[in-house]
Amino acid sequence: MKGRIHSFDTFGTVDGPGIRFVLFMQGCALQCKYCHNPDSWEMNTGRQMDVEEILDEIKPYLAYYQRSGGGITVTGGEPTLQAPFLARLFAECKRRWGLHTVLDTNGFCEPSHAQELLNVTDLVLLDLKQINSAKHVALTAQPNDRIKRFAEHLSEIDKPVWIRHVLVPGWTDDYMDLIELGKFIGSLRNVSKLELLPYHRMGVYKWQQMGKVYPLEQCPTPTNQEVIRARYMIDMGILANGD
Ligand code: SF4
Repeated sequence: MKGRIHSFDTFGTVDGPGIRFVLFMQGCALQCKYCHNPDSWEMNTGRQMDVEEILDEIKPYLAYYQRSGGGITVTGGEPTLQAPFLARLFAECKRRWGLHTVLDTNGFCEPSHAQELLNVTDLVLLDLKQINSAKHVALTAQPNDRIKRFAEHLSEIDKPVWIRHVLVPGWTDDYMDLIELGKFIGSLRNVSKLELLPYHRMGVYKWQQMGKVYPLEQCPTPTNQEVIRARYMIDMGILANGD
């Protein structure tokens, strides 16, 4: 069995705790307007690698991952599209080295499809992009009901989760939406961290290289003040849900 790999980073520090081997998988069913990896969308491209080949890439850096409290993170693209392959990879990382495993996902996945992978996943980084389903379709080309179901499933099985939300001015920063997002997060019992990520434009060059029109050309990055206000709104929602 082989996986389709977009790329990997041997020294990741932002996708989970510690220093991590970050594996970017090929393929994604969403088309987020702010995506910084549009070259990862296509399912049938990428480098084909088997589990052993990936383990060989991890091995030289094992000491860094283990001593820093890090491990391996799979991201994308969307890793759950290749869940059976990643279940094998994670199982082998655990069996050989006891490595900490993180799944960074958009959650657009039926729980039954990812169960084997979740069994060998220590932490899920779950993107909640927009709580309003119509706006979610406008932003990502897909509705969010499956994603919410996946989030609820993770809560039911008590899988540790960090939630990530990208703050995109004009797209995901409506105050009522942020409060609703907070209420939804507050209804989950397994969330140990919330990361509010300011929209950035670092992937624009990839759209240009691919000859695609970047859909958020006029969109500014949020100010610090806007990020602080948005965080406050989400926290209000989380508290309101607790009432
Ligand atoms: S889910 Fe991630 S990889 Fe897929 S389109 Fe959205 S930002 Fe890009």
